[in-house]
Amino acid sequence: MSHSYLVVAESKGGLLRQVSFETIAAAKTAAEDGDHVAAVLIGSGLSSLAGELISHGADKVYVVDHAGLANYNPEAYSKALQSVIGAALPDALLFGHTAIGKDLAPRTAAILGAGQISDITGVEQKDGRAVFTRPIYAGKAIEKKAFTSFPWVVTVRPSNIAVQEAQEDRSGEVVNIAYEAPSLRTVILEVVRKTSGKIDLAEAKVVISGGRGVKSPGGFKPLEELAGVLGGAVGASRGACDAGYCDYALQIGQTGKVVTPEIYIACGISGAIQHLAGMSGSRVIIAINKDPEAPIFKVADYGIVGDLFEVVPLLTEEFRKA
Ligand code: FAD
Repeated sequence: MSHSYLVVAESKGGLLRQVSFETIAAAKTAAEDGDHVAAVLIGSGLSSLAGELISHGADKVYVVDHAGLANYNPEAYSKALQSVIGAALPDALLFGHTAIGKDLAPRTAAILGAGQISDITGVEQKDGRAVFTRPIYAGKAIEKKAFTSFPWVVTVRPSNIAVQEAQEDRSGEVVNIAYEAPSLRTVILEVVRKTSGKIDLAEAKVVISGGRGVKSPGGFKPLEELAGVLGGAVGASRGACDAGYCDYALQIGQTGKVVTPEIYIACGISGAIQHLAGMSGSRVIIAINKDPEAPIFKVADYGIVGDLFEVVPLLTEEFRKA
């Protein structure tokens, strides 16, 4: 018996988020021959993005396009998604493990009476079923899990699953789903955007993070310059956030964001277990700390013992030449 999979795609600033393609790739791996993978786009003015989802592997794209869906609202998005579920009748739903996915996935699972596996970093086919990998205990152990029945819901951690190469000539169907705006219990009056995050921290290939060692808000300046040269994003430890050196939106760790970039550069960060929980999955970790005994060196692939205010500008200068 074939099954159908529905990927809940996400966009930001009018562009699809990378995690949407990664989630399609996860669905394709979970699916067996004869299964169908569809995607859904919920928002306002997003119809033009459907083709990109098809070229990345979606067989069909459901679009719910309405001015009332321009900003995420749990009730509104849940209603829109329920309409799509009514039309698509999926056996499995996959979301990005993002702020939206973390909210919408369990809500949907509860409505469907489905099981949920959250924050997966991998999926493979084993003994005829999809087996999901997820880190537990703040990344200290890895768990492998499988569902015993459909329907099921999964959330996919960004930057962990390889995206399928886009095939521009791939064809697929686009289905528009009607949406009638319900009366909502909460409404968004205004969205005040912070300008700091030019590159999405969760999806950045390079992350330069500052800790209490940066000593002041101005201490992030050299890190921002290095991030600019490397095309990366700036993150922080909770120590730096608590000290008021930067916004909590930058916090990486157990109670902050989880990042898995190609390169993570920790500057003036001691390496507390709660910080490691958010970055130890990075491919290459570089630590800059003036204390040679700092625990961050135990997880670092490359360590530089020195003053970050000397080392970081030197790195920026060298990378600028490259
Ligand atoms: P510190 O531990 O003070 O380290 C500063 C480092 O900077 C030192 O190693 C020092 O040698 C170095 N340094 C100083 N000056 C320089 C210089 N000029 N050049 C180079 N190096 C220099 N933390 C997180 O990060 N993320 C979380 O999500 C998080 N969640 C938490 C949840 C709970 C429940 C708890 C209890 C704690 C949590 N913490 C979290 C806090 C965590 O335990 C640490 O307190 C915090 O990570 C320390 O931040 P830090 O490394 O910047 O500061």
